[in-house]
Amino acid sequence: MPKKYSYMSQCGHPGCREAKVYKFNTIREQKEWGEGFGGLEWRCDRHHRMLDALSPAKRKVIIEGVVRTVEDSGYIVRHHEKVFDFGDSQISTVHGQGFTIYADDFPDGAILKLTAEISL
Ligand SMILES: [Zn+2]
Repeated sequence: MPKKYSYMSQCGHPGCREAKVYKFNTIREQKEWGEGFGGLEWRCDRHHRMLDALSPAKRKVIIEGVVRTVEDSGYIVRHHEKVFDFGDSQISTVHGQGFTIYADDFPDGAILKLTAEISL
């Protein structure tokens, strides 16, 4: 098995400890990937989607994600074959108080509809 090189990106939000690990076959691939990234910092789901955070002024949000199979790009270490595709982000597992939903458990095209609402 050829040696793999990994690179860990940590969320750019101050104080956040979330990280994502990428894998490469060669150091050259890793360098080219870094150049293609254009210096943009990675943000975890929480900090990438801060506009979706509820507040006293925005007390309800409904989002939908469609299950789809992901092709292996060869760069991202994946533990799942499927994701919930929300358009601007994809995630393989959705957690909430009292539930966990794995995209792998559902057929392509299934729609996850999440509603969060807070009453004041
Ligand atoms: Zn973060």
